[in-house]
Amino acid sequence: MEPHSCVNMLAFALVLLCPLASALANPISLYSSSTLTSCLCDNGLNFEVSHNSTWQTDTTPFNLRFHYTPTAIVYPTLTSDVVAAVKCANEFGVHVSALSGGHSYSASGYGSRNGALVIMFRDMAQIKYNSSDATATIQPGARLGDVALELNDNYDRAMAHGLCPYVGVGGHAGFGGWGLASRNWGLLIDQVVAADLVLANGTAIHVSNSQHPDLFWAIRGASSSFGIVTQYIFQTHQAPATVIRYAYGYENPNLSADAFAKLLTSYQTWGLTAPKEIGIVANVLQGGKVVELGGYYMGNLSDFNRISDSLLHATGSASTVYVEERTWVAALIEVGGGTPLSTIGKPDVHDTFFAKSLVTPTPSPLTYTSLATFASYFAHAQIPNTASWFVQFELWGGGNSVVSSIPANATAYPHRNHLWTIQFYARSTTTWSTQGTEFVNGMVSAITDNMNGTPLGAYANYIDPELAGWQSKYYAGNYARLAAIQKEVDPRGVFMKAQNIGAPDL
Ligand SMILES: Cc1cc2nc3c(=O)[nH]c(=O)nc-3n(C[C@H](O)[C@H](O)[C@H](O)COP(=O)(O)OP(=O)(O)OC[C@H]3O[C@@H](n4cnc5c(N)ncnc54)[C@H](O)[C@@H]3O)c2cc1C
Repeated sequence: MEPHSCVNMLAFALVLLCPLASALANPISLYSSSTLTSCLCDNGLNFEVSHNSTWQTDTTPFNLRFHYTPTAIVYPTLTSDVVAAVKCANEFGVHVSALSGGHSYSASGYGSRNGALVIMFRDMAQIKYNSSDATATIQPGARLGDVALELNDNYDRAMAHGLCPYVGVGGHAGFGGWGLASRNWGLLIDQVVAADLVLANGTAIHVSNSQHPDLFWAIRGASSSFGIVTQYIFQTHQAPATVIRYAYGYENPNLSADAFAKLLTSYQTWGLTAPKEIGIVANVLQGGKVVELGGYYMGNLSDFNRISDSLLHATGSASTVYVEERTWVAALIEVGGGTPLSTIGKPDVHDTFFAKSLVTPTPSPLTYTSLATFASYFAHAQIPNTASWFVQFELWGGGNSVVSSIPANATAYPHRNHLWTIQFYARSTTTWSTQGTEFVNGMVSAITDNMNGTPLGAYANYIDPELAGWQSKYYAGNYARLAAIQKEVDPRGVFMKAQNIGAPDL
């Protein structure tokens, strides 16, 4: 991107004030915008407003169902740039939102509204390994694929994080950050040892267990409500030389609800005692005609064979079997769908979709009836011709999983004694139809209506802006403490947006 010229911007702002129609359409935001932009200029910040050549690209979110128009986008290179931008926004009463990888399901990085000042971390994506204590200092704009490559290729190190190479560290580490290594190493938030944070009043602080512990607690699960993280320090792990990649396919061509429910309940029971070294997901694919149990095992083949025997003993023999020893990087590429891990210089991808999640408590596993009703629902419900869907039953807990070994109140992320996070995802190749939304809602209700009142949570990184009662579903018993801290550190609501702590329900 060409660096922003403040001189040109001011000339443009004057021209912009002239057309009567646009001035009348939104006189306040127009006035506020020109004043805010002078403040950004005066502070020497690199930023864009709507006439810049990359504006279109930079304001197109991952999920094309959404579109928000920022007042301006700031591209910091230093924490002090973020401080200056937040101070300008404070001065002119503009909301601020951080945008790192831009992969939010609801375009929440744009502030969930028009007119926010967006701080885009495109130019703060450094990944630095600290050999003295085996930590990595990582800026929020770094993408997961680049983090994995840099740590592995140069230092033989690794972390547990999500599967998609393009997801940004900034959002991912803010709300959880699950991947197939998480049962062994924890969520990405569990690997955070410290962070640098810019608060709503423009103060920059360092947070850790010993410095601002309340804020350190709060940003590990609900970061965007409390500040803008300008760098994280993560604990890293020895990268495995190889892991065992595996996938077992189960076909169900006649969409039998009984066969589906038996398979999933067997997988669920097996998961209750599964060793932490196995990362596993049940993917429901091809309109429910195929269920694939797959992931990777962080150990050797003979140990894997023993564990897979117990899995197959529970779930029955599969119609397709894939078991291969793979290098760490090759396995990450495979589970990411074959996309190379390096994202540098590559154009971002987009989708048009609606997704929801359910998080299931370990003491109240899903019932046979809820799973059979779910299967019966997807076998008969109508979805638009242009839409397709998948559902993932991700095993987060069970056995000696590290995710479950952490107390529910140790970080803001509360769902620790939980077995599955289930993701329901429908996408369209054309514009979105509400029929797709109804289909996904129907899948979720088929399960929740048959769980005898068991409260099921939701995962804030699979953000669902239509979720009623999101406060307790995302944050359970941690919400009250989060709300109290939020009121103290951002009383004017500089970072306020949909589903941030303190925001009203829909
Ligand atoms: C294709 C795809 C695959 C995914 N796979 C997984 C997966 O395997 N596991 C998993 O757990 N999740 C997964 N996710 C969900 C993903 O973790 C979230 O969407 C995540 O929030 C995206 O982070 P981002 O930085 O890319 O997004 P952004 O849109 O930039 O940000 C998302 C949210 O975080 C806030 N935020 C961003 N940066 C900062 C910052 N520096 N300081 C404070 N707040 C900030 C934003 O304001 C916004 O509210 C996936 C998402 C996609 C689209």
